[in-house]
Amino acid sequence: MQNLSKLVSNFSENDQRYKFDCPYCHSNTGYLYKKNLQFHCYTCYIHENLIQLYEHLNVEIPDYNSLLKFINDYSIFRFDPYITEILSQNAIDKNTFYQTFNLINIDEDKRPYRYLYSNGLTNFHKFFAYNVFEKFIYFLNLTKDDKVISYQIINLMNEGNIDFVFSLNDIRRKLKLSSINNSYNRLSLVQNLCLVDFDKQVYFLDNPLHSLIFDNSIYINNSIDCFPHIKRKYIYANDPYGIKKFEDRIKSDLAFDWKRFLKENNIKNRIYNILDLYKYENKHNIKFNLENYFYGNK
Ligand SMILES: [Zn+2]
Repeated sequence: MQNLSKLVSNFSENDQRYKFDCPYCHSNTGYLYKKNLQFHCYTCYIHENLIQLYEHLNVEIPDYNSLLKFINDYSIFRFDPYITEILSQNAIDKNTFYQTFNLINIDEDKRPYRYLYSNGLTNFHKFFAYNVFEKFIYFLNLTKDDKVISYQIINLMNEGNIDFVFSLNDIRRKLKLSSINNSYNRLSLVQNLCLVDFDKQVYFLDNPLHSLIFDNSIYINNSIDCFPHIKRKYIYANDPYGIKKFEDRIKSDLAFDWKRFLKENNIKNRIYNILDLYKYENKHNIKFNLENYFYGNK
């Protein structure tokens, strides 16, 4: 990185990264990672790739096209790994969240607990809280250290449907805290974002509750597609709407083939989704390997 060392101050390097004064805030916390050529400052949280950094420094970019190709090929996840870090730093401590929204633990009240029980989700009670007055279950999107980055409302008066989704900035506004960058805020809505390992196979599910159950999976709202480079497989519900999505998806990606899976494993029960399968597995004390049943053009 001959060029860069002359353009910035206090340049140093080790095996993984270059370190120098951030050209934006001038703190000594600017890092450029060799693996993916992503620049990140731990003081002002600016995050960009090397091309954007060169543009900011107002220098001609050596071999722009090969640099661009490298960045596109190796940035497996556009914000990786900083997005989860930034969300975690700005996440809301669970106690504060409970106080702000008047919540109790879900196992402290029979009615919401019955909801968890009948959905086979009792092992996941830490993701749920309850507001006795509203009769709303709060379904939490947590970080690795159990802080809250977003939440959804499950209305027990409305057949336990998910009614509203609130992002990190919605929570921060309520607490009169400053907002975070809007694209990060949108990603706070991706259920399980801070809990999955993006270096492994990631599964995309069509239901946020099911992403609790299925290993290394996220629920991603269709309007957000900011994961162009990660290895992904899709699992949709085994109902007419899900089957339609499956048929569209297999034109370009891998998706789970329920029909073949149920047939080859001789399952006669009505299994419409990952949650039904999870209950079936628990009842019969088996664990299926789903890997052989992904199908599609990839
Ligand atoms: Zn900075």
